[in-house]
Amino acid sequence: RMLRRQALIRKLPAVETLGSVTVICSDNTGTLTENRMTVKVIDVAGKTQNVLEMIRRGSHVLSRDQEQLKPELPPQTILLAGGALCTDALLQYEDDEHRNMVTVGDPTEGALLVAAGRYGMWKEDLEEGYPRVAEVPFESSRKRMTTIHPLDASDRAVLDGQRLEGLVDIGDAKYVGFTKGAVDRMLNISSRVWAGDQIHEMTDEWRERVNKANEDLAKDGLRVLGFAFRLFDELPDTSEVSNVEDELTFVGMVGMVDPPRPEVAESVSVAKVAGIRPVMITGDHPLTAQYIARDLGIATNDRVLTGLEVAKMDDKALQGQVEHVDVFARVAPEHKLNIVQALRDKGHIVAMTGDGVNDAPALRKADIGVAMGITGTAVSKEASEMVILDDNFTTIVRAVEEGRTIYDNVRRFIKYILASNTGEVFVLLGTQSLGLPLPLSTLQILYMNLVTDGVPALALAIEPTEKGAMKRPPYAPNESIFARGMLQHLIIVGAIIFAASFGLSLIGYDMLGNPAEGTTNFAIWQTMVFTTLVLSQMGHALSVRSNTEYILSPRIFTNMPLLLSVGLTTLFQLLLIYLPPFQNFFGTAPLTLEQLGICLGLSFLVTSGIEIRKLIINLTNKEA
Ligand code: ADP
Ligand code: MG
Repeated sequence: RMLRRQALIRKLPAVETLGSVTVICSDNTGTLTENRMTVKVIDVAGKTQNVLEMIRRGSHVLSRDQEQLKPELPPQTILLAGGALCTDALLQYEDDEHRNMVTVGDPTEGALLVAAGRYGMWKEDLEEGYPRVAEVPFESSRKRMTTIHPLDASDRAVLDGQRLEGLVDIGDAKYVGFTKGAVDRMLNISSRVWAGDQIHEMTDEWRERVNKANEDLAKDGLRVLGFAFRLFDELPDTSEVSNVEDELTFVGMVGMVDPPRPEVAESVSVAKVAGIRPVMITGDHPLTAQYIARDLGIATNDRVLTGLEVAKMDDKALQGQVEHVDVFARVAPEHKLNIVQALRDKGHIVAMTGDGVNDAPALRKADIGVAMGITGTAVSKEASEMVILDDNFTTIVRAVEEGRTIYDNVRRFIKYILASNTGEVFVLLGTQSLGLPLPLSTLQILYMNLVTDGVPALALAIEPTEKGAMKRPPYAPNESIFARGMLQHLIIVGAIIFAASFGLSLIGYDMLGNPAEGTTNFAIWQTMVFTTLVLSQMGHALSVRSNTEYILSPRIFTNMPLLLSVGLTTLFQLLLIYLPPFQNFFGTAPLTLEQLGICLGLSFLVTSGIEIRKLIINLTNKEA
């Protein structure tokens, strides 16, 4: 059932824990959003251009024959061409006729390839002239990536009809490095900035201006990437990052949109009603994160903590913060570990998503580590309790609901078995202590335990979700299994079963003339007690299905195996009573209609008791 909801459970006890989850820490990109990035804004030389419509033109189809846009300024060409070269994503034809292209790889990078393609710059062609000879790969702690390309082959390929030489004075440089990444992580390693039609020294004033533009974009929920280049006279040693990612010339930035998944806002409110707090943990800019968190209803206040702030806090301070902060931004995987730890120290049961190799420690630390089925690495899946196959936040909430259902069903099973056995034990104890013969034969007792208790109990394990399952707070994990009315149920049902069958044992024995063992009357006496117990159990099985919904509510048809097992067990009971071969075997005797009626009437007491209790629960809840 979990799997049908796209949740693959790797460790079985997680199912029970899911029902107790109080906080869900979720990634942003791909889990809350669709991870379908599209470049919306290009910002170069201090000019912000809204290009979404232009880039989307021709809808999602990207082809070489399409009408192409013209870059207006040299830095825009460098941004788009350098951006395309500095990606690991690819454009591939999706059909044999080589018409439409789709992106493969990281959607953030894919969006850059699509944007460059719209401007007639194709990564494939660019790499002819500017092959990659070295790189510093993207890392979520640096939030940057650099590729290095020789300049001497550049006559073979062009940047929008020009060479790099035509756009910028390359002097004696032999190599060019293109760097892209989070703008706030690029400014302090940039020493120059391209603004207007020339390159300036990067002053604090320029940094402030660029940062302001960055924040303006982030405020609208855009993921912003900055772009820079650097010329080298010889191939730098990339094993030392600062050899490469330093003294850059900043050329501009792009803002991308990533639409939220349409179903997530609803799941966020379902989670909240269920007493679960969704928390966003993302590598994105605080303003971007805040916009999306607010849009989805995750943020309940304006507070955002960054990874840097998390790292600086001591345990106590962080524990104080995690209770109120719903958005963590610019977070690197190692900060996730601190956040889970603080939440757990505060007594929370934490589900935490992660996809990267570096997320593994945090996934292990969380009560429920949630790995991504599509984008997740094998290491993150290994470290997880649960894999969500569709990478979707909604699936986590559904899994919690299913977890609660399964826990409820375990409780139904226990209620059913324990209450009826308690009743049975006391009947035997009672009759024994009054010196009466046993009101049940050994085979009858065994039959009850195996068939009438066992089969419907198994069917109870597949009961559907209770109506209010996501309207109540999570179970406290240290809560006793007997809490929430379980003990009360055991006492009430046990007492009714006991009273009915014990009363029947006493009065029936008397009315049948204190029959001696082996006589027909004795068999009738035992058969009546046996039948009353079995039929009580059947009513119990139907009533125990819900704490609030009545036996004849529409719920009755939602568990066919249960109805079938109750129906068949009742039918079997009649066969045991009336078919001679069974009579010999089980020591039963045919009952008169009146006797059968007495058994039926007595067995109704259990169901009536439970249903009256539901009525009282529903009435008092309504008042509250
Ligand atoms: P998350 O996966 O939580 O969204 P990431 O660590 O992937 O966070 O991204 C954080 C930031 O790093 C982004 O906001 C963006 O600025 C930058 N970034 C993301 N992907 C790339 C990439 N492929 N190359 C360069 N920078 C990137
Ligand atoms: Mg990412």
